[in-house]
Amino acid sequence: MKAHQTKLANQEKAVKEAKEDLIKRKAAVRDLENRLRASSDLLVRHQQQLDTLTAPNQVEAKEHDIANTKAIIAQLEDEILTALTEIDEHTKQIPELEKQWADGQTQFATYQKEAAIRLESLQVELTQATQSLAQIEASLPAEARSLLTRLVKAYGADALAHAEKGVCSQCHTQLPQQMILDLNSGKLICCHSCGRLLYA
Ligand SMILES: [Zn+2]
Repeated sequence: MKAHQTKLANQEKAVKEAKEDLIKRKAAVRDLENRLRASSDLLVRHQQQLDTLTAPNQVEAKEHDIANTKAIIAQLEDEILTALTEIDEHTKQIPELEKQWADGQTQFATYQKEAAIRLESLQVELTQATQSLAQIEASLPAEARSLLTRLVKAYGADALAHAEKGVCSQCHTQLPQQMILDLNSGKLICCHSCGRLLYA
């Protein structure tokens, strides 16, 4: 459930970030376009000024300004073209990211539906198991029932221990031979060391 939610949140974030990135890129292009416009205006002014100049050093300086401004304009045009190409590519990625997110939402809905069905069947199993347990408890002798109740209260799920190859599975103590014989004959035997009800 957690993994599904994380994946979905990441997909949503990817779409949001891609859109925000695009907005930033478009703003950057507008900025470049403003600079290009300013440089173009400057070029026009330089060229008008050049017409009014006669002194060779002033003409040379102005021609130098014009060359510089043209270089700046060429560079800005390159940057704008690159930025526009990137915007195109990033714009194309958005539908794919949105599709992944939409698919993720569908998958999550399916997962939730399946989990609900699974939970329902587990609850049915639990109800059946609880009923079976109640029947078994009812069929136990009173002594065994009260012992079991006491042990479950004390140790919960660890109330019972398996006497496997003569050793208590809870505390790993070697059990006396007589205890194993009694256990095998059907008597109620608790481990002397840890107090768990033993079963063979
Ligand atoms: Zn034990």
